[in-house]
Amino acid sequence: MKRVVIVPDGVADWPLKELGHKTPLEVAEKPNLDRLSQTSILGTLKTCPDGMYPGSDVCGLSLMGYEPGSVYTGRAPLEAANMNLVLKPDELVFRCNLVTEKDGVLADYSADHVSTEEARVLIQALEQRLGSATISFHAGKMYRHIMRYKYGDDLHVETDPPHDFQGDRYEAHWPKGKGAEILIALTERSREILRNHPVNRKRGKEGKKPANMIWLWGGGRAPTIEPFQKKFGISGGVISAVDLLNGLGRCLGWEIISVPGATGYFDTDYRAKGEYAVTALGRLDLVFVHVEATDEAGHTGNIKEKVRAIENLDRDIVGPVLEDLKKLAEWRVFVAPDHYTPIEKKTHVAEPVPFIFGASDLRGRGSGLSYTEANARRMGIHLERGSELMNRLVNGWPVQSV
Ligand SMILES: [Zn+2]
Repeated sequence: MKRVVIVPDGVADWPLKELGHKTPLEVAEKPNLDRLSQTSILGTLKTCPDGMYPGSDVCGLSLMGYEPGSVYTGRAPLEAANMNLVLKPDELVFRCNLVTEKDGVLADYSADHVSTEEARVLIQALEQRLGSATISFHAGKMYRHIMRYKYGDDLHVETDPPHDFQGDRYEAHWPKGKGAEILIALTERSREILRNHPVNRKRGKEGKKPANMIWLWGGGRAPTIEPFQKKFGISGGVISAVDLLNGLGRCLGWEIISVPGATGYFDTDYRAKGEYAVTALGRLDLVFVHVEATDEAGHTGNIKEKVRAIENLDRDIVGPVLEDLKKLAEWRVFVAPDHYTPIEKKTHVAEPVPFIFGASDLRGRGSGLSYTEANARRMGIHLERGSELMNRLVNGWPVQSV
């Protein structure tokens, strides 16, 4: 039995005036998704437990078959896992953004999307000056890095993500709680070290914003996640251009399938993702394919790109993968976004998401409806526990429940 999960990140949306009061899913040409939906179970799934933020990490854990409430320890530990940093139980890691500070205001949470090469030099400078037996800095990609703190019991802090307060005075968002002063001091020292660094002087000449401060947030300890193979008895792999999702996959013991040309943006190579998914199915029991472009379109409020991303996904991933599955006697598939990213909101919303659950053995239990938010609600099939969909993908949809 082969199983596939397809996750169009943030695809679910609200009706838009510009689309004649329809959603991007309702207007996109997506014959493969619609055919699958008509012959499959269609319903809604609660991916984000109450009181948690609907990020791709929390909601992704649900889709992968885990309860975020019991295994999630923060974003940074997952990103550290993706960077192959192995944490001891008493160690804490924080996400360390390189940011642009101007006159006490957080001017850019990404330091103008500083390049990975420049960032590596800056993080090295921080490690040389601020690194110690307790603290170390680890370079990741672009503005996204990690600070590791050895004695986790020293710190118990609340932090604000810098993309949430761009344009504000950053002092209003200092970490709060036990040991907050340690993080604040590091941030202030980083400003002194980075301000006149040659990399930033060069950026200034090129008319780019300087990466002149760090911002530490999203801290946590290593999660204790039962390996997927042990929990569900089958092997798995993930295809995603997003570090966070690959980090989750690594924590689960999944194979990280890297696809050349997968960018996590509008220009991602959909066809290559589809091809790699089909190939990976030859050796793995389950492949989890994540597409970020739909979420990016939501964040940027770009209706045209959102519709186009759905059509690309349908043609180049859903089509080839289904064709391959249908050559097999036994297969199951589900399609579901991790969360809503409504164009109108430009951010994530915790609302039950529409899902398709298809299988070779459903026999006449098809919805007869195309894949849209409203159709999914109309069916009246709702799974309150987000992890339940993966459970059913592995073990089958109970006969009596539909
Ligand atoms: Zn997003």
